[in-house]
Amino acid sequence: MSKVAVVGGGAAGMFASIFAARNGNEVHVFEKNEKLGKKLFITGKGRCNVTNAADIETLLANVRANPKFLYSAFYGCSNDMVMDFFEKEGCRLKVERGDRVFPLSDHSSDIIATLERAMKKEGVKIHLRHEVKSLDELKDFDSIIVATGGMSYQATGSTGDGYRFAKDLGMNVTELMPGLVPFNIEGEIPKMLQGLALKNVTAAIYDGKKEIYKDFGEMLFTHFGVSGPLILTGSSFVSKQIKKGPLRLVIDLKPALTKEQLDARILREFEEGKNKQFKNVLGGLFPSKLIPVMIDLSGIEPEKKVNEISKAERETFVNLIKGFELKIISLRGWNEAIITRGGVSVKEINPSTMECKNHPGVYFVGEVLDLDAKTGGFNLQIAWSTAYLAGISV
Ligand SMILES: Cc1cc2nc3c(=O)[nH]c(=O)nc-3n(C[C@H](O)[C@H](O)[C@H](O)COP(=O)(O)OP(=O)(O)OC[C@H]3O[C@@H](n4cnc5c(N)ncnc54)[C@H](O)[C@@H]3O)c2cc1C
Repeated sequence: MSKVAVVGGGAAGMFASIFAARNGNEVHVFEKNEKLGKKLFITGKGRCNVTNAADIETLLANVRANPKFLYSAFYGCSNDMVMDFFEKEGCRLKVERGDRVFPLSDHSSDIIATLERAMKKEGVKIHLRHEVKSLDELKDFDSIIVATGGMSYQATGSTGDGYRFAKDLGMNVTELMPGLVPFNIEGEIPKMLQGLALKNVTAAIYDGKKEIYKDFGEMLFTHFGVSGPLILTGSSFVSKQIKKGPLRLVIDLKPALTKEQLDARILREFEEGKNKQFKNVLGGLFPSKLIPVMIDLSGIEPEKKVNEISKAERETFVNLIKGFELKIISLRGWNEAIITRGGVSVKEINPSTMECKNHPGVYFVGEVLDLDAKTGGFNLQIAWSTAYLAGISV
């Protein structure tokens, strides 16, 4: 029987420990917090989007950094296996819109409790309030699994220790950046629109004229800028460009309509309210919070009668609706990032086992690795799959 140390009792550490113990090893988990899975607790707004039920190719397509590295991991421990694991251990799951998988109870605490129960059943020894300062402390162990997570939401315990451990071993850590993070936007518009959620819009990000991201979905205005799934995903496509200067965020508020169709729609609204003022005919086009902003940006007098609005003015208005532009000045910080981009270079890790190529017996799993994906349960699937491979390999 060999002795295995797991550093970190988050998603990846807990999962790895269960499979390492099932393999007949003596497994010790060291977690610096007073309890396991503090970050898991806040995932999915407290509901934990535990994985995504799409096929494996779709899972891989949603991984942003190093998807090829994850081939063995995703096939070795698929989303089906993860779902099976939780169901067999007594946690019922459900699939929602976009194939997102949640516990039936809608409580992330049930995911943590299930993992903890399985760990205890397999005889895993849990050491809470035990911060590992250096891997040298673990010389007595035959194998070490580093599952220390990333750098974001540091109050959950993920303070980047694993990157230090990797560097101590002489390993390469790629540049770290906050990922799936909101944007700071220039000017007063976000404050005016704070709390407004826009559904079914298209957002595109441009570096000068070059489009670096475009997608369709839901976004949200906040006091500092913009957030919501469409924006968070967009942030994963923004890296070095933002350091050089602001980027353009262009929102199409009516992506289902061509400019011609939109013009016809506006004309209809105008005809229905023939003698009305411009400011009083826009209720059918936008949510009320957006109306004063759109009037202001249109350059059309709010009191102007709609039958006096010229074709050119209408054209400007159509262009504004199809290309509502904001200036991205920066990414928000680590405390608002869902994940860390960058990490321990996967070039130095065996993709079939998660063992370091130059350090036999040392494994890195989960977010500490240079892997990241879009929102939708894909990041936790990365944690489960990589952890499983290390667990069965030690
Ligand atoms: C707000 C928020 C919501 C999210 N929602 C989702 C979601 O719904 N679906 C999804 O797929 N992903 C989601 N994520 C991402 C997901 O939480 C992470 O990808 C995942 O938790 C990574 O797992 P991990 O085990 O690698 O790291 P973590 O879960 O961060 O665990 C690392 C653990 O290691 C411990 N640790 C660190 N250093 C040491 C040390 N030196 N000694 C001892 N212990 C140490 C930490 O205390 C921590 O408990 C969300 C993230 C955030 C911040």
